[in-house]
Amino acid sequence: MILKELKVEGFRNYRQLQQVEFLPGVNLIVGDNAQGKTNLLEAITYLSTGRSFRTRKEQELIGFGAEFADLQAVIQSQEREQTVRAVLFTGRKPRQLYVNGVKQKTAARLTGILTTVLFCPEDLLVLKAGGAARRKLLDMALCQLRPGYEKALTEYHRLLEQKSRILRDRAEQPGLLAVLPDYNLRMAQVGAILIAYRARYLEKFSRVTAKFHREFSGGKETLAMEYHTVSTIQDPLADKQTILEAILAHQKSHERAELESGQCLTGPHKDDFEVTLGEKSLKSFGSQGQTRTAAISLKLAERELVRQDTGEEPVLLLDDVLSELDPGRQDFVLNQIQTGQVLITCCEKDRLTNFGQVLTIEQGRLLEK
Ligand code: ATP
Ligand code: MG
Repeated sequence: MILKELKVEGFRNYRQLQQVEFLPGVNLIVGDNAQGKTNLLEAITYLSTGRSFRTRKEQELIGFGAEFADLQAVIQSQEREQTVRAVLFTGRKPRQLYVNGVKQKTAARLTGILTTVLFCPEDLLVLKAGGAARRKLLDMALCQLRPGYEKALTEYHRLLEQKSRILRDRAEQPGLLAVLPDYNLRMAQVGAILIAYRARYLEKFSRVTAKFHREFSGGKETLAMEYHTVSTIQDPLADKQTILEAILAHQKSHERAELESGQCLTGPHKDDFEVTLGEKSLKSFGSQGQTRTAAISLKLAERELVRQDTGEEPVLLLDDVLSELDPGRQDFVLNQIQTGQVLITCCEKDRLTNFGQVLTIEQGRLLEK
């Protein structure tokens, strides 16, 4: 899959319309700090998933003082050229999404048109960070692969927000507590869908990540991954009805605690996965080098799973990540990315110039070559 062209206008610091053409192979996006390199990758991932990887607040994406943000991409895949477009508005007007010029109702319709895998410096720490970072990694991957997941996740977030509000305001508005059972049931149903997707994905993800990690560590280390979800679920790969019942049981046993704390304490919004090396928790015992190596393996596995699933090489987006790696790890990554299209951002181009085309960004503008 090749991202041929991107147009950005009114997005973040891209004030005026910029048109960027990318080549197959490596594209280096070079610029000083705060010029808009990450913003450009954010625009691209927005078109591939309908979400930003930096924020859940859509309004932050619109350029200061702009009334709308307009993103458009032309994608070449399997002999076919397609376009995606997203227009975001200030205020309450909902965003508009288009595929090949046709307006779409949901972001789920973007699935598979522009698939990307993003690797940024935070990802190097994902295994030491809190659970939210790992959930985000799973969510971003699954949203791109499974339209049903994207739909369920959006609904789950909405339900969670509403249930949290009911619990928080229980003293001022006790009347609202009457609808709590309805919320619980729907959250359990949608939650069971999320868990089913996550469990299946993690099974494959774990296998492929372990393969990369073994190669990377010269066959010395054995990596494994375990899914942690709602504690009453014995087997996350069980059928949905069994999972649903387990979630309902967990809800029941936490009903009182939720009312006392005013917080939503049960459901897959607390999910996590644990990585072990030789049966020891990486989070607790992993060295810096082991953590980075495992994180790189995780990303390379993500890319491989997208390729296996869609039959096409996703566009790889490397945000500043190479500068964070020592030469040995840089080489491992560079050796693994010799196929497909890659967009790499960096501040200096020295080490990488022999790779492909160089695009220079300055204050939200693409400089003439
Ligand atoms: P670095 O090398 O430090 O990572 P970068 O080139 O990746 O820098 P970006 O993160 O892409 O930088 O862009 C950051 C700039 O975009 C900041 O100066 C920030 O103030 C600006 N910016 C962020 N959001 C908006 C917005 N909504 N409107 C206008 N400018 C914005
Ligand atoms: Mg950046």
